[in-house]
Amino acid sequence: MPRRIINAIYREGETEEIVLLSQMNESVYQNKYKGFLFCPNKECKARIVFATGEKRTYFRTWKSKVVNEEIMDEHIEDCPYFVEHNLVDKPLRRRDESLLYKLSSDHINRVLKKSFDRQFNPSKLQNRGKSKDGEKGASSRVRSERRQVPQGSAGLGSDGALDKAEREPSVFTKSVDDIIEADYGTVQCVDGFADKLIFGNDYPYILLTTKNDKKARIVFTEAFAANNDAQYKNLVVYEKYIDYLSENEPKPFCSCIGKVTKDNFGVTVNIEDYIALRINNKNYYQIIRDINKIK
Ligand SMILES: [Zn+2]
Repeated sequence: MPRRIINAIYREGETEEIVLLSQMNESVYQNKYKGFLFCPNKECKARIVFATGEKRTYFRTWKSKVVNEEIMDEHIEDCPYFVEHNLVDKPLRRRDESLLYKLSSDHINRVLKKSFDRQFNPSKLQNRGKSKDGEKGASSRVRSERRQVPQGSAGLGSDGALDKAEREPSVFTKSVDDIIEADYGTVQCVDGFADKLIFGNDYPYILLTTKNDKKARIVFTEAFAANNDAQYKNLVVYEKYIDYLSENEPKPFCSCIGKVTKDNFGVTVNIEDYIALRINNKNYYQIIRDINKIK
C-alpha cells in the first residue's frame, strides 16, 4: 500500500516549501498551488493534485498513463508514495475509484442535450428508459448497465484524466442555484440562464443569473484558450448571441461541463473545450450560423 500523502512540496521558481493538506482548500489551491505541487519525497518529482471528495479533501498523484502498453509512472520506483494502478487489468481498473476519465465528445453532447431537455422538454425525459416490455425489462437493463460503469470519476485534461474508459463515467447535472460545498472540485454539468459575457480582469466569463445572492459564472480558462484557439479569439460570438437573445424572455439557457470551484468571485465552472458549452442547446458553430441570419 502506498503511503497516504498528507503534505506536498510546493515548488515554483526559487521557492520550495512544504504545504500541509490541512492548510489547503479549493480556492487557495486554484489561486496559488495548482500545477506546482510535487511528491513529498524530495528525490521524486511526481506531480501532486489537490482534490475535494465527497467527505474529505486529499492529495493524490497525477494519473499514470498507458502509452504503447507501457505504464508511465509519476513516482520513481522506490518512492514510498508509489501508486500501483491496475491500468492493464481491465476488470480491476474499472473498480479503481481514484482514476479520472476524460469524457468523449459524444458523451458530452448527450449530457448537454439532456440538460436542455430537463429545462424545456421534461416530458421527453420521463418517457425515456421505459421499454415496451414494461418496467421490469427496463430496470433490469439499467441494472446491468450500472454494473459495467467504471467507478472512476469524470475528469478534465488539466487534471491528468485518462483518455479511454471502457464505459463513460457518470456526469451529474445541476442547476447553478443547487450547487453546494460538496460540488467544489468535481466535474459536472451545470446549467443556468446567462446574463452576459464579460471580459474580466482574470478571465473572460459568462455571468449566470442566480435566484439567491450567490454569484456564478462560466469561465474560459487557460486550458480553454490553449485547446480552442479559434473559439477563444472569437468569444464575441457568444457575447453577441447572449445579448441578442437577452432582448426577449426567457434569457439564454447555458449548459456546460467543467470543474466546479469556488474562488473570490463565487461559484465558478471552469470549461476547457468549446464543445462543453451550449447556449439554448446550440454549439459554437450553430451559434455562428444563427448570428449570420440575424444580420
Ligand atoms: Zn514520489
